[in-house]
Amino acid sequence: MELLYEGKAKRIYKTDTPNELHVQYKDDVTAGNGEKHDIMEGKGRLNNEISSLIFEYLHDFGIESHFIKKLSDTEQLVRSMKIIPLEVVVRNVAAGSITKRLPFESGQPLNKPLVEFFYKDDALGDPLITDAHVKALNIASDVEIAALKTKALKINEALIELMDKMNLQLVDFKIEFGKDDQGIITLADEISPDTCRLWDKDTKENFDKDVYRKSTGNLLDAYEAFYKKLKGAVL
Ligand code: 5GP
Repeated sequence: MELLYEGKAKRIYKTDTPNELHVQYKDDVTAGNGEKHDIMEGKGRLNNEISSLIFEYLHDFGIESHFIKKLSDTEQLVRSMKIIPLEVVVRNVAAGSITKRLPFESGQPLNKPLVEFFYKDDALGDPLITDAHVKALNIASDVEIAALKTKALKINEALIELMDKMNLQLVDFKIEFGKDDQGIITLADEISPDTCRLWDKDTKENFDKDVYRKSTGNLLDAYEAFYKKLKGAVL
């Protein structure tokens, strides 16, 4: 298969079917825009399994994504999308970059979920951008910006409901959207512990990539534990 794109965590291949792509989840773990990098055998399988279960759960919740089906331990079949170059972050609790930018304490609940846009550009360090910047860069119109926010908040509601079943707090997460062949804004990329902050409600134990970013534990153990909880919650 022809390799179309290789990112930090996934490879995207062309398939024989137009509008369908093959995604392979890699064992690479990175943090700090690639400054920290390791290979952890089994990480690709875990994120593929987790992301597949979450996309299926969201589908049952009425939220469509690019996901078609899981192909193997590490591979998915997805619809091809024209990716919108934004990282859409939803926050329920302050943590990470917002605590460095604004006077929020880590762990401080937010009055209501907050949606932020970051411009996807490694060379620029994925900067936070305003709606006005999104329009000035011709990334999305007012109507599309509103749709991105509405969809992101609906995904947040669905994920909070799921995490509640696991006694986990959905602190924040990053999603990406694309436009399908009809021009419909659709959830793409992945949803996994790489892209979320997930804290045990009681102990505040982390089940996400912060374990690796902050070197506080074993990433594979944390992801495996999360996967076990998730299977229990969706089955
Ligand atoms: P923060 O802005 O605090 O660094 O990240 C907010 C949320 O978005 C966290 O759950 C974090 O994992 C996710 N996130 C932000 N940027 C990226 C990114 O470039 N890659 C991944 N995998 N997750 C990101």
